[in-house]
Amino acid sequence: MQNVSMEKIVSLAKRRGFVFPSSEIYGGFAATYDFGPLGFLLKKNIEKAWRRWNVESRTDMVEIEGAIFMHPRVWEASGHVGGFADTLVEDLVTHKRYRADHLIEEAGIMASAGGLSLQEINDVIEANKLKSPDGNPLSKSKKFNQLVKTHLGATEDDTTLVYLKGESCQNIYLDYKMVQETMRLKLPFGIAQIGKAFRNEITVKNFLFRTREFEQMDVQYFCRPKDAGGYYDEWKKNRWDFYTQCMGFDKANVRWRQHEKNEKAFYATDAWDIEYKFGELDFKEVEGVHHRGSYDLDQHAKFSGKDLSYLDEETGERFNPYIIECSGGFNRLFLACLFEFYREEEDRTVLSFPAKLAPYKAAVFPLLRNKPDLVARAKSIFDLLRAEHMVAWDDRGNIGKRYYAQDEIGTPFCITVDFQTLDDDTVTVRDRDTATQKRVAVGELADFLRQR
Ligand code: ATP
Repeated sequence: MQNVSMEKIVSLAKRRGFVFPSSEIYGGFAATYDFGPLGFLLKKNIEKAWRRWNVESRTDMVEIEGAIFMHPRVWEASGHVGGFADTLVEDLVTHKRYRADHLIEEAGIMASAGGLSLQEINDVIEANKLKSPDGNPLSKSKKFNQLVKTHLGATEDDTTLVYLKGESCQNIYLDYKMVQETMRLKLPFGIAQIGKAFRNEITVKNFLFRTREFEQMDVQYFCRPKDAGGYYDEWKKNRWDFYTQCMGFDKANVRWRQHEKNEKAFYATDAWDIEYKFGELDFKEVEGVHHRGSYDLDQHAKFSGKDLSYLDEETGERFNPYIIECSGGFNRLFLACLFEFYREEEDRTVLSFPAKLAPYKAAVFPLLRNKPDLVARAKSIFDLLRAEHMVAWDDRGNIGKRYYAQDEIGTPFCITVDFQTLDDDTVTVRDRDTATQKRVAVGELADFLRQR
């Protein structure tokens, strides 16, 4: 990755159909985005790579897809109704509201202020004479619950109040026993899920980094209490390898950060974040890896009145399994991919995605668009490859322009059909990263792409 700015990423993402501001013709709507055609393809490929790594390549993982609406008691049991709150302060002149911990961190007073109490925040603001970004005095801090509420049913009162998921993983805890029994799983095993989460974030900026609607990619790994420490270390290694090997991120752009004592949930034995270097935002969390003990199952057993324990056939013991949680944010992973693979060279901009992530695996061009023989042969090659891969077609402008347009969206190979193709059935295959070309027989093309 080069020293790329957020502005460049946002501009490319919009210009080339990766990410659009949501409701754009109405002037946009804060912190909501749509994935455009190429963003959608990249999203699907990221999810596929994540699924392959976390579920399909293992024998101890299954995946579910849970509903967004859940029983409102779920959010009481999870602690979100009582405690899922950010601390906000208000600019006393403009009445704009800010996250107090972010203001303290951005002013360089503390590296991490997420765990401070209301009193501690007030003290820090006073001691440092901290002002709002507009230079005005700040109010005392107060709590602001982030759960998004709505009503389901024919009336709008307390009896029909429901919450959108504040974190996606709750379905996994509720379904764990049914999953275990129906799939006849024995500890240790894990349940994965990619699902939506909604948070009424106070300050929203930085593009996809902090949105009010996003997807989380979760692994919840269930194990015997005595084994939890070992599996925690294993999953930490797994997550590091996921970012640096599976996603191909440079190790210099990824790092671990351990939660400080006052930041960690009271029940958590240990908690680390994986952070990614998002350009000028510097290192910020992409995934939390938490040793949660049996807290989640204990809470749901208590609030639902149902026995969620596991019977250990070897020892005859019953207990609520411990959970190792790896909870990553899809939007942040997607954004990290744009930062990681964006490159500017003298005369071109390149997204050097690994082939498995690239929206299109190849593009097919006829050398000239006004030569029917070339166009017909190119179309037949395009159709052949399209049967198996996402492939783009382009016959506009000159070849150089077509190459650069494909480089900018990360297409690893450009296949040109020229006059020689009509003689010997070979095409030129131009490599995005090296810009070198070689001739490949048409019969070998599908296999060539399959191996990438
Ligand atoms: P932050 O401190 O940045 O608000 P968090 O600690 O509240 O994040 P978690 O509750 O641990 O986040 O959620 C797990 C993951 O979900 C995060 O690592 C992040 O990738 C993602 N995530 C959380 N909030 C948002 C958001 N508002 N927009 C996009 N992704 C988010």
